[in-house]
Amino acid sequence: MSNSSAGTRSFSEKLDLLAEVAVKVGLGLKPGQELLMTASTESLGLARRITEQAYRAGATLVTTLYVDDAAALARYRYAPDQSFDRAPGWLYDGLAAAYKNGTARLAITDANPALLSNEDPEKVGRANRAQSKAYRPALELITRHAINWTIVAGATPAWAAAVFPNDTPEVALGKLWEAIFSTTRINTADPVAEWSAHDAGLQRRAAFMNEKRYASLRYKGPGTDFQLGLADDHLWLGGGTTAGNGIYCVANMPTEEIFTTPHKARAEGMVTATKPLSHQGTMIEGIQVRFKGGRIVEAKATRGQEVLQKLIDTDEGARRLGEVALVPHSSPIAASGLTFFNTLFDENAASHIALGQAYSTCVRDGDKLSPQELAARGANDSLIHVDWMIGSAELDIDGITAGGTAEPLMRKGEWAVELR
Ligand code: ZN
Ligand code: ZN
Repeated sequence: MSNSSAGTRSFSEKLDLLAEVAVKVGLGLKPGQELLMTASTESLGLARRITEQAYRAGATLVTTLYVDDAAALARYRYAPDQSFDRAPGWLYDGLAAAYKNGTARLAITDANPALLSNEDPEKVGRANRAQSKAYRPALELITRHAINWTIVAGATPAWAAAVFPNDTPEVALGKLWEAIFSTTRINTADPVAEWSAHDAGLQRRAAFMNEKRYASLRYKGPGTDFQLGLADDHLWLGGGTTAGNGIYCVANMPTEEIFTTPHKARAEGMVTATKPLSHQGTMIEGIQVRFKGGRIVEAKATRGQEVLQKLIDTDEGARRLGEVALVPHSSPIAASGLTFFNTLFDENAASHIALGQAYSTCVRDGDKLSPQELAARGANDSLIHVDWMIGSAELDIDGITAGGTAEPLMRKGEWAVELR
């Protein structure tokens, strides 16, 4: 790490800092651990710096799996039809085996949000389903935090073009990197210290909600009139987590949310998304759904309706909610005013809900409960977990106590109660 102050760091110094913060704060990587990283071929630069930082932190082996956009598109152009029901199960089984052996996991998120926009939605849906199914055993270890893991972002030309469509490719790429550096607190004098203060704030907010033990949340905003019950024994989390292997990690960089498990049978009313959703290379815009008894009974989108329909038809749990998260509208990501077309950023810009799989860590003693016991508390089960943003500067949220009293939680997108 260099000695230059926050304002005068070069791009190269910032990239090194991002890699260092990802390894030290994000992963909390311990000497003697292995690391498994995934990235696209566009993120070689960041992946190499993370590799260096991981070895310097004592990693015994860093293994990186690269994906390539051109190869992904070639499949849609030239592969036989049966290709779209296939996934490399052997590879995902290998990932699961690595996690069971305590290997840490880092994902660089850098995907072109529109990569598959022009491909056949039917094929995209089948391919996603096959992949979700094959990935499930490995993903399950991630969602219940068996190991330390984190996701960081790397800017790429295609992603930058989606976020800054009116700039030249070079300017757009520079702007996206700057947005990544500022939202991940790399542009501060001491990013590691900055992260620990931020983490403490999120932990305080989650503790406040856990004391309140609201039975449900009520949302009111433009196009949204919605009541969402929380799971029995639900637990609010935010910031870092101590993983099953005992290592403290911050799974998302950036992260601004506190989140918990809603009750899968207790969602009623209409919800309108406040941001477009980029799902596996397809854009879904203008989402509006109606819930009854926890289940989506009507779903509309102004763009990507077919993909949305395929998504909620994945399985029974895909029509129900597995996560609810609160994010103040003043979060640095919302303040940037940008739509990133990337869930890691957009979900931290706004309060959101997620279709599909619940996090068992968001239920008290959830890691010790059987799937049946989790389901009995209202935790949802699905192959998918897709976040979509419903927060805005016009959203009001009340917490409803077990006795039915409404208490203001958020007003115009901001916390109604200050915590110290
Ligand atoms: Zn979330
Ligand atoms: Zn989520």
